[in-house]
Amino acid sequence: MTDLIKAHLDHRRVWRDFDYCYPVISRRSRGVSLGVNLNPDKACNFDCVYCEVDRITPPKRRDLDLDLLDRELGLLLDLATSGEIYEIPPFDSARPEQRRLNDIAFSGDGEPTTAREFADTVDRVARLKNQRGLDLVKLVLITDSSRLQAPEVLKGLETLMANQGEIWAKLDAGTEAHYREICRSQVPFQRILDNLAATARRWPILIQTLFLSWKGQGPGEAELEAYCGRLEAILAMGGRIQALQLYTVARPTPEPEARPLARLEMDVLASVVRSRLPGLPVEVYYGPEEWA
Ligand code: SF4
Repeated sequence: MTDLIKAHLDHRRVWRDFDYCYPVISRRSRGVSLGVNLNPDKACNFDCVYCEVDRITPPKRRDLDLDLLDRELGLLLDLATSGEIYEIPPFDSARPEQRRLNDIAFSGDGEPTTAREFADTVDRVARLKNQRGLDLVKLVLITDSSRLQAPEVLKGLETLMANQGEIWAKLDAGTEAHYREICRSQVPFQRILDNLAATARRWPILIQTLFLSWKGQGPGEAELEAYCGRLEAILAMGGRIQALQLYTVARPTPEPEARPLARLEMDVLASVVRSRLPGLPVEVYYGPEEWA
């Protein structure tokens, strides 16, 4: 395995002795992404069967120190914009086209919007970005979609979207049963659907869906049909879906029954979605065999 492949696969949210911020080479953003972890306590309101977060090792800390987060992110922004980061392994093996800072992503060891400090942090991060004149660098929220309509979260979303923001929102199921089986959350499925529709009516959103083999089975025909129906309903209600990202398990997870789908299976799923939703940009990200 080359260093670059290791860099793609190694999304552990750890960088030196930092507590909150970490750089990765991101397949999806095709460049460097600086992650901001608002869940150092590793708590999440979902319990996805494919989650790769190590919840056995106790967290280094549980609190959010926003001044420290500022300092960590400021340093990483300086390393990335000066190019010094590309002298440090594994970033030294990044291809020339990957040597660009694409985004700062709120993507932690849990759901970022559950942090009380979410809106404040978005504010601070936008300020750090603007102080450096990084107008092309996006602010990305990677979310499980459970709290997109909470008033304190909406405040953060407004700041995010006013600063080259993108909302990458999870929808892993078409039916309540599949959602319960895969996401194992107490949040009602209908709330996820309502949040997605309301948010997409206000701003274009990018929907992320992880399809996997769970207990030896991929999503069946009825599940896929229901899933396409959910996307159609969002569009029919005036929602805008900027793109759909279909991906599968890419890294080992604590649940051995959560397995990646093969490249061919992903292609079949994508072609069904494309034929049901013509005009919707569908991006496919394959599992480990892509990296073998
Ligand atoms: S929403 Fe994300 S962090 Fe939470 S359990 Fe699912 S995959 Fe893990």
